Amino acid sequence: MLKKWRLWGSCLLLVALIMGAVVWTQSRPSRVQTTPATTNHVAQSPQHDSATTTLAEKPWTKLKHPLKLPILMYHSISTGNQLRVPLQQFDREMTYLKRHHYRTLTTDEAIRALTTNTVPQKKVVWITLDDAYRDNLKILPILRKNHQHVTINAITGFTTKRNHLSLAAMRRMRDTGRVDFDSHTTNHLDLTTLSAKQQRTELADSKNWLDTKFDQDTRLLCYPAGRNNATTRHLAKKTGYTLALTTREGVAQLSQGRYSLERLRIAPGMSLAAFASVVNVKNN
Ligand SMILES: [Zn+2]
Repeated sequence: MLKKWRLWGSCLLLVALIMGAVVWTQSRPSRVQTTPATTNHVAQSPQHDSATTTLAEKPWTKLKHPLKLPILMYHSISTGNQLRVPLQQFDREMTYLKRHHYRTLTTDEAIRALTTNTVPQKKVVWITLDDAYRDNLKILPILRKNHQHVTINAITGFTTKRNHLSLAAMRRMRDTGRVDFDSHTTNHLDLTTLSAKQQRTELADSKNWLDTKFDQDTRLLCYPAGRNNATTRHLAKKTGYTLALTTREGVAQLSQGRYSLERLRIAPGMSLAAFASVVNVKNN
């Protein structure tokens, strides 16, 4: 009889432990900015797609050779000039990445990949959109449909301008778990024409704004028009950024310098074959 009760007791204890673990997992915070060492879990709020979580929990592979990361550069998603990519083209390109099993990295994942020379899977790409134009809202259904992720580099002093994303719109995008917002400075000035003090203000104010509004540690800086000098790079590090992006054409590698990473411009009218060859970067 005593043996039977002990068995029942053990079973109840086991059930309680499992339920406790489930409750603990679900009650974790929705957004955790993590250091490279701890990004093996990417925290998700309940509405986030579970696909990202599952993939993120797999161990990352250490590469033999330095990572070559294609960082795609988009701006406005519309038509009219060489900086605007039509929505249909963006859709086609995202569908291509999905069909060919590319993983679209978050900012944290990209930083982790570059700084630790590891990858979560063979094919990786980092999609960035500069300036945070209001038309970027149109890409959300595409990102949702394909379970993809982008990083938008926001000009934090422009969020009340008509053609740019408002803070509310940015939050709406961020809350889907499909978009990160990082810094494209406060006023989009040519940093190389500014004094060190002015540069520091452009870099630090933008970071503080993003840190506060999104409760994050903003670690990515994108130079306006790619313009930077030695002072800019020094200040980027000093004000707390981990990486910075230029507009120089090329596949990103850490050997370029953490604050001088190259990107690949996606031009309007680019054929899908050309796009495919741009993202086709082999790592081992
Ligand atoms: Zn820009």
